[in-house]
Amino acid sequence: MKIIMLGAPGAGKGTQAKKIAEKYMIPHISTGDIFRANIKNGTELGKKAKTYMDQGLLVPDELVVDLVVDRVGQDDAKNGYVLDGFPRTIPQAQALDSALEAIGEKVDYAINVEVPDENIIRRMSGRRACVACGATYHLVHIPPKQEGICDTCGKELILRDDDKPETVKKRLDVYHEQTQPLIDYYTEKGILKEVDGTVDMADVFAAITDILGA
Ligand code: ADP
Ligand code: AMP
Repeated sequence: MKIIMLGAPGAGKGTQAKKIAEKYMIPHISTGDIFRANIKNGTELGKKAKTYMDQGLLVPDELVVDLVVDRVGQDDAKNGYVLDGFPRTIPQAQALDSALEAIGEKVDYAINVEVPDENIIRRMSGRRACVACGATYHLVHIPPKQEGICDTCGKELILRDDDKPETVKKRLDVYHEQTQPLIDYYTEKGILKEVDGTVDMADVFAAITDILGA
């Protein structure tokens, strides 16, 4: 099963993608996590990506596409995967489709997690992410057991640099301009599924499993 998660930054794509990955035993592939790991490790890719991410801009397609095509070709992805944060532009979607077509495969579902902009800013300012394992929490909705500490690995939780309100506004503009057109793209392909992302995360997940099947 090959699944794409669509939605604004902060809509809950990562939260749901992790649950999908666990239930359907497929890898969760987050391009944002891949870039953050590269930044942490001081790689050339990380240095390049950071200059865009800090401004709330998208990393150029040529730095993203090969990385994802390579990742989905790895062994653990042969029964499918859930892509979170990719594609974010029409050229990225086309590149993924051609790479899959070349091996006789295709994306099965594009799940759009719908959350209005008003809710997004609130969500992002409350998001806390683990510096070590990438787990995400929300100060109000999904608090960690101990303040500032990751439940999973015990490391420190931080507010991401790009979750500061002024950067979130820019990211939302970029989303509407460059990523939202993917909704029409996947509607035309007949694989778009919409879920209401404003409800409790367990209810969002129930809506997704209704779509994907048991
Ligand atoms: P994305 O991957 O789309 O950027 P996240 O999954 O990181 O978004 O979610 C953004 C923030 O909103 C996080 O702090 C997360 O804990 C919180 N969140 C996710 N889903 C819900 C929900 N259904 N209700 C309330 N808060 C949520
Ligand atoms: P995310 O963790 O998905 O919110 O991504 C964080 C940031 O990483 C984004 O704001 C972009 O700057 C960059 N990024 C992640 N995925 C992509 C992508 N597919 N294309 C371009 N930039 C990306």
